[in-house]
Amino acid sequence: MSTTYDMVPDGLLNDEKALLEGMYGKFGGMYVPPPLEEKLQKLSSEFRSAIDDPLFRNEFSYYLKHFVGRPSPLFLARNLTEATGSKIYLKREDLNHTGAHKINNTIGQILLAKRMGAREVIAETGAGQHGVATATAAALVGIKCKVFMGKVDVDRQSVNVSRIKLLGAELISTEMGTATLKDAVNAAIEYWVTSPDSFYLLGSQVGPHPYPVMVGYFQHIVGKEARQQIIEAEGRLPDSIFACVGGGSNAIGLFGAFLGDNNVDIHAAEGGGSGSKPKTAATLTFGEPGVFQGTFSYCLTDDKGQPTDSWSIAAGLDYPGISPQHAYLKDTGRVKYHVVTDQEAIDAFRMLSRTEGIIPAIESAHAVSLAVKLLKGKNSLGIINLSGRGDKDVERELA
Ligand SMILES: *Cc1c(COP(=O)(O)O)cnc(C)c1O
Repeated sequence: MSTTYDMVPDGLLNDEKALLEGMYGKFGGMYVPPPLEEKLQKLSSEFRSAIDDPLFRNEFSYYLKHFVGRPSPLFLARNLTEATGSKIYLKREDLNHTGAHKINNTIGQILLAKRMGAREVIAETGAGQHGVATATAAALVGIKCKVFMGKVDVDRQSVNVSRIKLLGAELISTEMGTATLKDAVNAAIEYWVTSPDSFYLLGSQVGPHPYPVMVGYFQHIVGKEARQQIIEAEGRLPDSIFACVGGGSNAIGLFGAFLGDNNVDIHAAEGGGSGSKPKTAATLTFGEPGVFQGTFSYCLTDDKGQPTDSWSIAAGLDYPGISPQHAYLKDTGRVKYHVVTDQEAIDAFRMLSRTEGIIPAIESAHAVSLAVKLLKGKNSLGIINLSGRGDKDVERELA
């Protein structure tokens, strides 16, 4: 990495249609009732003015470097390289403060909230990872924080519940519906609409415009660094790159900088669950195009075309929707989306722990599994996005 810490993307890949309307081909947009649309339009214009402002960009860079600990290393995994016959690098997002890529986005959005004069930020969380990242960012800038979580998740994620409270956030447990992630989203949106001074801090590249474009922007640093680092290390671009996709934020973070490099193959690992419907979270493989939670993208549906619950061993991948940008990248064929099952992810989780001394998040293990499968015996050069660390996963019967 060079000595200047220019970590912010140079404009939005010149994609005006995405920036202004949140459209990726026919996907994306803002499918919401009027009161919400008004808030989103305001957020969209404030976001554009923020990223045009060098002071905002410098502040974002400052916190990425000194609070998150960027740039994250690009690590040559020698044992994995020996085992597969392909040179494999790991982009170490697991080394970020709080242990995953999510902090890049929460820092960006909290600075935007502060700039907009928000008195309070709200967030939804499933397993609690985004709740912790948001509570962390809110503590950093001194804004009040409410985290909405389904009662069922509160009961099974006690460590993250304690972390959220320790960081000074208020935890709001909801008993609506199945009392899990999508119910927490609904509760948070309801609160947001009725609280003019609040800012909704969304955790992945999903939901209505401008969230997908904002989250993509704040995560762009991952690929921007990786591209520079691989050129420094190898003198050339990789043959292929890999990431897991839940909502799509760590994947778009890595992929964004390489989309224009047509010689770089891009592969994404979906949370395959059992490997077939209905016990799966592989939205792009098994889902249908449709409107879900404010955006037109793919979604897992039942026989009648209604959105269904997803299934994956990895809480971060367990979502029935997907980023509209990934929907577009699938339809254009630029990115290949693959099913990786729970069992394959568990095998990769154990394998990376033993071969490299790195315990990956079970989400990231999906990408490791896919990369090893596709690179075996290929004598090529690949990068895997290691989106997070696996401390949170060791207690389950994975070890
Ligand atoms: C949340 C999470 C994911 C999935 O979210 P994306 O938005 O698809 O990146 C992947 N890995 C880790 C470690 C996570 O915490």
